[in-house]
Amino acid sequence: MAARKLFTGPDDRRIKRALCVVAHPDDIEFYCGGTVLKMTARGVIVDFVLATSGDKGMRDVSKSRAKVARLREREQEAAAYVMGVKRVAFLRHPDAELVEDLELREEFVREVRATKPDVLLTFDPNVGYLYHPDHRAVGRVALDAAWPCARDPLTYPKAGPPHETKEAWCFAGQQPTLEVDVGDVLEDKIEARLAHRRLESRMRRRRPGASQASSRPSRSTSAMFSRTRSRPAWPTRARPRARRACAVVGVTAPGSRDFIRWTSDRVSARGTPGRRPT
Ligand SMILES: [Zn+2]
Repeated sequence: MAARKLFTGPDDRRIKRALCVVAHPDDIEFYCGGTVLKMTARGVIVDFVLATSGDKGMRDVSKSRAKVARLREREQEAAAYVMGVKRVAFLRHPDAELVEDLELREEFVREVRATKPDVLLTFDPNVGYLYHPDHRAVGRVALDAAWPCARDPLTYPKAGPPHETKEAWCFAGQQPTLEVDVGDVLEDKIEARLAHRRLESRMRRRRPGASQASSRPSRSTSAMFSRTRSRPAWPTRARPRARRACAVVGVTAPGSRDFIRWTSDRVSARGTPGRRPT
């Protein structure tokens, strides 16, 4: 039976806070970057939580996993900044090794209770085989964390005061039913996607002997990005010309709660940079 959605979409004025829980750097930009941008543009506070730092998500085997993780965290921080997101939490589990366990669930509960979102954005775990295992694990554990764990005070009582998230928007699902135009934020969405490639390019060009990436940033980057309002001066690059921009949403309802199944922001842009999210 189809369920009634609580919120109409990212423009719904009742949404004040949102939390994105994903597996890897670039997941958010790939799957729901336009949606995040539409919310931050009108003042919604959005927090990012990444279960891994994508330390296996680069095919250049000359780089250590630690270096890849540092690089991808910096890219994610840059992308978050472009999207108006001030806080990125890196949980730093090993890439491609996420499983449904109580440790991860408690970490997500802690994040839900700390950020108190109206909307949780995460992966739709109910998908076919062709899917990253980390995505499935994150989606399922994030939903379990939101309901009932973060809501119920006797569950993880040391993980903060209980909070009930009003709704979940699950992206990368297979049965979308709603389209949301993200054309008004497309430039910034592309800019955020580009952030995941620019630092890599800069690192590749770095002279031998030059200092490497700075020490691992703090777990949360809120202080780093709250100091200034201006955007980082990333090298300019010709942007692809967008032909169509929309996000697709579907609705299903496990239990009495409305779950919105989001698939990707379907930005169809000639030459859109990037690769399949890892
Ligand atoms: Zn991913």
